[in-house]
Amino acid sequence: MNATTAKTNLLGLTRTELEAFVANMGEKPFRARQLMKWLYKRHVADFDQMTDLAKSFRAKLVEVAEVAVPEITMTQVSADGTRKWLLAMNTSEGVKQGIEMVFIPEPGRGTLCISSQVGCAMDCTFCSTAQQGFNRNLNAAEIVGQVWLANKELGYQHGGDRVVTNIVFMGMGEPLANYRNVVPATEILMDDLGFDISRRRVTVSTSGLVPQMLKLAEETNCALAVSLHAPNDTLRDELVPINRKHKIAELLDACWVYVNKQNARSITFEYVMLDGVNDHPEHAHELVTLLKGRPAKLNLIPFNPFPGTRYKRSSAAAIERFRDILNANGVIATTRRTRGDDIDAACGQLVGRVHDRTTVRLGSKLISVAVQ
Ligand code: SAH
Repeated sequence: MNATTAKTNLLGLTRTELEAFVANMGEKPFRARQLMKWLYKRHVADFDQMTDLAKSFRAKLVEVAEVAVPEITMTQVSADGTRKWLLAMNTSEGVKQGIEMVFIPEPGRGTLCISSQVGCAMDCTFCSTAQQGFNRNLNAAEIVGQVWLANKELGYQHGGDRVVTNIVFMGMGEPLANYRNVVPATEILMDDLGFDISRRRVTVSTSGLVPQMLKLAEETNCALAVSLHAPNDTLRDELVPINRKHKIAELLDACWVYVNKQNARSITFEYVMLDGVNDHPEHAHELVTLLKGRPAKLNLIPFNPFPGTRYKRSSAAAIERFRDILNANGVIATTRRTRGDDIDAACGQLVGRVHDRTTVRLGSKLISVAVQ
């Protein structure tokens, strides 16, 4: 089931694209819908098992198409049930590099955290992926393939309960820097003939690529999370370098446009709690000024340390005090429970400990990097 270059991986095609693909093979569009049911409802990857398709069509499919998913190199299960898979991806230099995927089970829901790029070019100072630099974008099939693979690994059965109920693009990479692959992938995740996950349960998380956020508001309808991490430009310029290009005021304006266009309830703002850096009561008050009366929710994330980092996690007391100031002043804030600590599956630790010398570190040059 591993990818070969000549065949089209059907997991990367939206319904419209799959219809065009089968039309090209001389088949009626409804064949595409039949195929999608096999792929996503019955979870069958083998064309020979797709018994309501004509034998001749199946034989043609075997020649030109495939259902290929990423290759697993390691699986770990945490004491709290969190699962982490290390997936091998080809790099642009033809060697393998790891990306990670994490499943977080909770009562009544299962959240899958997926990656959108091999590495990342955003260079946020507190994120371990940044240390690895950027290698390449994942294509739509590699993104959707993660979800397909997780369902298989988690034992999803046709007709049984869903295992993966929520998807978050909070693994490796900046999803909006890979717009042209992430958007069709979200379409397949939300399509009722695809994974059929509701739009409020597919969340794209961004460090703040404003032009792509505005485009997203026009072109799709998934949920949006924004990595804020600082309440003023001086601090955010340092922690999230894309802020040097798109300042907080511009970022927040794009957020409110998103909510209006999407008729969404709110934007979730992620805020990593760094000891002595962004966790002073004064910072909480600055956040209140920015977000009060706005359709915003703050998610406070205790920092997860990694080797070589200069940051420390804020104390539980500091996080609680910070949250209380926000809540007392009318800004909804919750603290994210840290999961999978024992297997390094927590946010920001998705580096896989696999380091590849050949990755390109774009560092502070990122603001001039062309976003595709
Ligand atoms: N590039 C996207 C999505 C990937 S990061 C983004 O920036 O939103 C997913 C979330 O994990 C982001 O909010 C990110 O800031 C946070 N994160 C990164 N490193 C972390 C760390 N070491 N500890 C806690 N959260 C971290």
